[in-house]
Amino acid sequence: MKAQKKKPSPSGVAKKSATKAKENPVSQNGSAKRGTPTAAYAAQAKDTPLAPFQIQRRDLRPQDVQVEILYCGVCHSDIHMVRNEWGQTIYPVVPGHEIVGRVAGVGSKVNKFKKGDLVGVGVIVDSCRECANCRRGLEQYCLVGSVLTYSAHDKRTGEITQGGYSKRIVVDQDFVLRISDALPLAAVAPLLCAGITTYSPLRHWKVGKGTRLGVVGLGGLGHMAVKFGASFGAEVTMLSTSPEKEKDARRLGAQRFALTKDPRQMKSLAGYFDFIIDTVSAEHDYNAYLKLLKTDGVMACVGLPPTPPEIKIGALMDGRRSLSASGIGGIPETQEMLDYCAEHGISSDIEMIDIADVNKAYERVLKGDVRYRFVIDMASLA
Ligand code: NAP
Ligand code: ZN
Ligand code: ZN
Repeated sequence: MKAQKKKPSPSGVAKKSATKAKENPVSQNGSAKRGTPTAAYAAQAKDTPLAPFQIQRRDLRPQDVQVEILYCGVCHSDIHMVRNEWGQTIYPVVPGHEIVGRVAGVGSKVNKFKKGDLVGVGVIVDSCRECANCRRGLEQYCLVGSVLTYSAHDKRTGEITQGGYSKRIVVDQDFVLRISDALPLAAVAPLLCAGITTYSPLRHWKVGKGTRLGVVGLGGLGHMAVKFGASFGAEVTMLSTSPEKEKDARRLGAQRFALTKDPRQMKSLAGYFDFIIDTVSAEHDYNAYLKLLKTDGVMACVGLPPTPPEIKIGALMDGRRSLSASGIGGIPETQEMLDYCAEHGISSDIEMIDIADVNKAYERVLKGDVRYRFVIDMASLA
């Protein structure tokens, strides 16, 4: 997600992280002086690949939680950011905002978590907590500006935030999520971004029984939108450029599949949908999808291509259609989504990789060749 405002077996892994935690004595005096050297992967510039890099994680402040990272998802936003496609990247950048792991230490005033708990960290790590939006649990829309998990200025410490392609992270407890052990942990990681980014708009626009839902793009976000749409009782149609993904779309919960490159199929769906969620990461014609909405239908964009789109007002006017967009979700809703997934057995379809293969994985994502989210096994980071 773009910056706000100006700018497998969990138990096996648990043992490993408990051992690691011993290596990191926790200072509880709130000072951010020394920090802990931490292995990571970073890009030094927009045209350099990700490579091993050492960062410092701050010593624990009273409200901080130190997380030993076990898995981190690879979001298309990581690629946009590493390549500075949104023009806001601060280098060196350690990407990654689909983080799951185990609590390795807590500050003196932490009351929500204890050592050993399974936790997650998503796209934001701080906000003002006082503005009207923060008070409503919409921290992602903080009126002062939320702090992204990486490549952002931490307003309290002055640090540049660094993300989850690393061994550990230190985050204020208010931005740490509880993770159940009901689901395979690696497949939970993508819920922290792809999950909440699709859950939130589907809930906001009350997608459910009786809704004709169109999902544009079957990638990381798209496959979660299909799963949630089907779970909420909607009739789901997959709108995809990739004919080879039809079988998967149906397995994930779509009743219908339309090839968007086929004008005949697009025409047959004119005026059909109540709600469309657009997850596309690259330049495309939004007007072609707007025409598929019913009168008063809504299209919400979650994909964020680097180039601004050309919207034809006529496509909106013809049926009082609405075009909107949605960014991740607030902390309470992210917890609600994680709890919903644990209860309903929903997680991401993943391909696990070693961190040394992350640059190759980026190339595959760009070709639409991922089924449907890469997740880095952080045990592969020395
Ligand atoms: P992804 O896994 O690469 O999926 C994107 C999908 O879009 C592709 O699989 C492909 O699906 C479709 N697509 C790609 N190029 C296309 C084109 N030129 N025309 C039509 N369809 C195309 O990416 P992702 O991780 O899901 O992220 C998608 C977008 O959401 C990115 O821009 C990302 O930055 C953004 N994002 C936003 C938020 C937020 O808070 N709003 C959060 C996370 C990510 P088919 O093969 O089915 O056509
Ligand atoms: Zn993301
Ligand atoms: Zn705020």
